[in-house]
Amino acid sequence: MHLSFPEPIAAALPIIERLRENYFEAVFVGGAVRDSVLGLSIKDVDIATSARPEQVLGLFERCIPTGLQHGTITVVHEGETYEVTTFRLESAYEAHRKPESVEYITELDGDLLRRDFTMNAMALGLDGVLYDPYGGVQDLKKRRLRSVGDANARFQEDALRMLRAVRFIGIYQLRPAHHTWRAVLQHCHLMRFIALERVQVELDKMLAGAVPQRALRFVAASGLLFHLKDSLGPDIEFAMKEAEQSAFNKNLFERLHELTDLDLRWAFIAIVLNQSTETASHALQVLRFPTGRSRRIAAIVQVHFDMLSNVELFQGREFQRQWVKLVLVSGQAAASEWLQVARAAHAESSSFSKELLNDLERWLNEMTILSLKQLSVSGRDLIKHLQREAGPWVSECLKRLLFLAAIGELENEKQALLQEAAIQQ
Ligand code: ATP
Ligand code: MG
Repeated sequence: MHLSFPEPIAAALPIIERLRENYFEAVFVGGAVRDSVLGLSIKDVDIATSARPEQVLGLFERCIPTGLQHGTITVVHEGETYEVTTFRLESAYEAHRKPESVEYITELDGDLLRRDFTMNAMALGLDGVLYDPYGGVQDLKKRRLRSVGDANARFQEDALRMLRAVRFIGIYQLRPAHHTWRAVLQHCHLMRFIALERVQVELDKMLAGAVPQRALRFVAASGLLFHLKDSLGPDIEFAMKEAEQSAFNKNLFERLHELTDLDLRWAFIAIVLNQSTETASHALQVLRFPTGRSRRIAAIVQVHFDMLSNVELFQGREFQRQWVKLVLVSGQAAASEWLQVARAAHAESSSFSKELLNDLERWLNEMTILSLKQLSVSGRDLIKHLQREAGPWVSECLKRLLFLAAIGELENEKQALLQEAAIQQ
């Protein structure tokens, strides 16, 4: 197969040329080659070479010795960075994840053999000819994900490959080869050797794709998340098993892709699996989510549960009042993000009709004031005007004024607010 070079690969040709002028072998490898074959846009361009790391360092002006121990040098060329890695074998894997040692070799074949899946084990040379010793193109044509060599052995060496398998199946809409999938099911218990940070990165990547629900189905079917270093929690595990066992599962996440923001997708999953804010937060913490992200997701889940009880208890104007209160407590961001998630949630089974969500959105947009900072009086103004000593009454009073201004029952104007405060005393 002959490929014309897409732009990001063409831009890296001078690096390959330089290595070849110096009598080293050098080719493009990995995701860039796979994505060119598929005609998809390319993220990062990786190069494999017979040159040793110190030789690579000697050939290029701007280098960063990123992973010197395992043979990777980052070469900077015209503002772009490229990982240039020496052909290598990985021997004796330690704890089902890291190779104990790497051995540099001079042959491309050996280097491709260590790669995880056939579609990731192709190389593209300077002449545009694709080198594909394990039938990656054929597999891609059949939309099949297949391990290089014996899947059992490959997953035993490095258990992270199982999660990568699910990600590729989801993102590229592939089906796993029979043997590869059987090996995932057989070795899912090895997931406990994988750092949770790595699990999180993989899950994020699989959820970020165009059809995140496909990856989710395969994650659930694989059972990989039931064997993590730390448990995501019994409630979530139960909900995942239940979702997986019912045919309903497919529909549950049907509209997940409509949400473009990754954190909203996470919130959607927690809500659809009916997880409380606490269980969702626990799972996010187990997965080592950065605090900012997990707070944001938990806040959306919390709005959901508050709204579920509101919708049962209140109607009409009182419902609007409860919503405004909730927006003031949770913040406008969480409220409007929840609206987006609620819109994408499965329509028939939802407690929130489209009309209701439209009302909530309108009421949110009508709020001209959203926080104490925007209120035209301060605590100090109140103390002075009412001639009372400072105390907890100040913040209570400010909150009441904020609420009245937010719902439009009082103008956000100093005199009007002070007058109302005086009446309330
Ligand atoms: P993407 O960049 O889209 O996440 P990728 O396939 O490029 O996908 P990278 O992590 O960038 O993934 O790795 C580049 C290449 O290195 C892969 O295509 C594959 O050949 C090889 N590789 C990466 N991780 C592993 C692994 N755990 N086991 C075996 N080979 C791997
Ligand atoms: Mg890559």
